[in-house]
Amino acid sequence: MTMSVAGVLAGAAARRPDHPAVIQGSERVTYGWLWDQARRYAAVLRAGGVRPGDAVAVLLADTPRFPVVYFGVLAAGAVVVPLNVMSTPSEIGQVLTDADARLLVCDASLLARAREASEPLGTVLLTVGPGPGGTVDLESAAQDTAPIDDAAVREADDVAVVFYTSGTTGEPKGVMLTHRNILHNVERMVATPYMFRSDDVLLGCLPLSHGFGQICGMLTGFRAGISIVLMPRFSGPEALALMTEHRCTVFMGVPTMYVKLLDAVARGEQAPRLDRVYSGGSALPVKTLEEVRSTFGCPVYEGYGMTETSCSVAYHYPGVTFRPGTVGVPITGVTVGIARPNTDGIDLLPAGEVGEIVVRGPNVMAGYLGRPDITAEVLTDGWFLTGDLGMLDGDGYLSVVGRKKDLILRGGYNVHPREIEEILGGHPAVAQVAVIGVPHPELGEEVWAVVVPARPEEVTAGTDAEIIEWGRQRLSAYKYPRRVEFTDALPLGSSGKVLKRVLVASYETAGASLQTK
Ligand code: ATP
Ligand code: MG
Repeated sequence: MTMSVAGVLAGAAARRPDHPAVIQGSERVTYGWLWDQARRYAAVLRAGGVRPGDAVAVLLADTPRFPVVYFGVLAAGAVVVPLNVMSTPSEIGQVLTDADARLLVCDASLLARAREASEPLGTVLLTVGPGPGGTVDLESAAQDTAPIDDAAVREADDVAVVFYTSGTTGEPKGVMLTHRNILHNVERMVATPYMFRSDDVLLGCLPLSHGFGQICGMLTGFRAGISIVLMPRFSGPEALALMTEHRCTVFMGVPTMYVKLLDAVARGEQAPRLDRVYSGGSALPVKTLEEVRSTFGCPVYEGYGMTETSCSVAYHYPGVTFRPGTVGVPITGVTVGIARPNTDGIDLLPAGEVGEIVVRGPNVMAGYLGRPDITAEVLTDGWFLTGDLGMLDGDGYLSVVGRKKDLILRGGYNVHPREIEEILGGHPAVAQVAVIGVPHPELGEEVWAVVVPARPEEVTAGTDAEIIEWGRQRLSAYKYPRRVEFTDALPLGSSGKVLKRVLVASYETAGASLQTK
């Protein structure tokens, strides 16, 4: 069976060539223009020796050039390896080596880092936009080249994109997603009633290099023929201003973005009315969800997924009854199970019991690139083991309890950070909170809460004791935090998630010497 992710743009260009696909600053490009440009870029890549199946790494900011290069690489039949723009030269070098990419396409403005990484490896470097002498500018070469009219057709199980995971729990892993994997989720989400309407305008502030922004945002949006306003670097006030200026109807983001939007509104910025907002990537605290709903005057749909499942597993959408505290129901064609943890093979638990979330379906990755060892650990008996703990209710709604790796073992008891974060988040002095396990000489681990205060100027010597007391009154004795640390900001990874391993490392030494009261 043949198919190609490139067909997403080809289809939109055929259906609505003159509709704005991407808007950024004063630039507004149509579907017809994007597909014409992508096929020109494909022609240059082909002439330069790129063959179907070759890996092409891309280091590009979120501008209209991103989809041009992305679809250009796919139209040439090659595999896209997106790099986060924040990557350091050594991180870029690791990905180039890992993915065996012989070509790197970068924004001219990112040339210095790209060159430092690619030169020692002998990777060919192309810029988008004029760079210094000696570099080839793909953009100007493409204008002198006729567009290809025979975009590559690939087998459904050929790899389309290699995504690197967010690196929240350790080193990022290269996830091989096939054309079938990606298109399954795109088609299912587009078929969802009203997920996107063709007249929608989405504020696209999730990085296009990450699966969430690329598959759920760009590809699903293009499939539906919407317009996407790009925002290369997120800031709360600017996001609000862009949504107002472009009359956005939809926002899609990770919870830390919602916190920043609400903070900007609290400081006096105007909030636009929206039609729908989608959240994913990490748990959306119920308090935040409710504030978002009242601030933007629209429903909030939370979903759950990961790079390895083409970014979606379960979601809420207009048309499914909203169930707070859950991440909705599995997308069509995808089966979710709850497996008894720490057993050989898969032993599925009944509804109502907490275990490891396992997923089966056409959206599950082909494997981790070059890592058959860790692939075998997570692909077992036809299931993908997510590493997350959760529960299904009798109606098939999924709740996510947290990551297995974040589970705190305090004096023989399991403590799930998310439950405590929800409770502490309800204290009026708390804007954001991350609960972690810090090594302790007698208990193994002690429960600590790292808090970003709602109003730092009002934090006094007794505020930490108040928050601990708030937890003590509402949680079992083994769960409430024995220590609260204040911080200006939580450490975030490239996709906006709190890096708990960084927090644990910074408090480790202090914890080992702490005696529990
Ligand atoms: P790495 O695998 O490199 O440690 P990562 O798991 O953060 O990084 P992603 O694939 O971007 O990389 O994120 C998927 C993970 O995000 C899921 O496994 C889950 O832990 C978390 N997640 C996503 N959506 C939700 C949600 N709605 N609620 C709770 N957790 C979520
Ligand atoms: Mg992961």
